[in-house]
Amino acid sequence: MITYSSKNRPVLKNCPLCGRLYADTGSGACQKCYNAYRDYELEVKKFVEANPNCSARDIVKNTGAPLAVASKMIQSGQFAMNGKLAYPCSRCGKLIKAGVYCSECQQAIQQATANANRMAKERERFHANKKKESGKKSTGLNILKILRGK
Ligand SMILES: [Zn+2]
Ligand SMILES: [Zn+2]
Repeated sequence: MITYSSKNRPVLKNCPLCGRLYADTGSGACQKCYNAYRDYELEVKKFVEANPNCSARDIVKNTGAPLAVASKMIQSGQFAMNGKLAYPCSRCGKLIKAGVYCSECQQAIQQATANANRMAKERERFHANKKKESGKKSTGLNILKILRGK
C-alpha cells in the first residue's frame, strides 16, 4: 500500500495540457504530458540557447512544442534571456514580454471583475427589495377572510 504524507497527498485535477483527470503530486500535469513536457523543455531550451532573439512562435515552429508549453516556460522565467523573448498574451494572443496578459487585457480583466462585482451587488439589492415587497403583500392578504369564504 502506498502512503502519502498529508503534505504530498495527490489531488485529482484536470491536466492543463490534455484535459484528462490525473492525481497531481506537484508536477502540474498528468504523467504523460509531464514526460512530453520534459522532452519539449529540453528541445525548447536548446533552441532558445541557439536563437536568443526568437519568439514563442519560432519555438513552436522549430521544436514542435505546443504553444502552451513554450509560453509557460517563458512566463515562468526559465530562460536567462527573459524579457527579450516575446510570447502571446493568454487572452488575445498579442506578443508580450512579461506577465500573462498584455496591458490592454489586464485592464479589460480588471474592468470585467469590477463590473461583475457591481452586478452581484445590484442583484443582491434587487432580491432584498423583492423580499420586502412580497412581505408587504402577504401582510395585506387577510387569510382569515379567505378561510371564512367571505
Ligand atoms: Zn495530460
Ligand atoms: Zn491581450
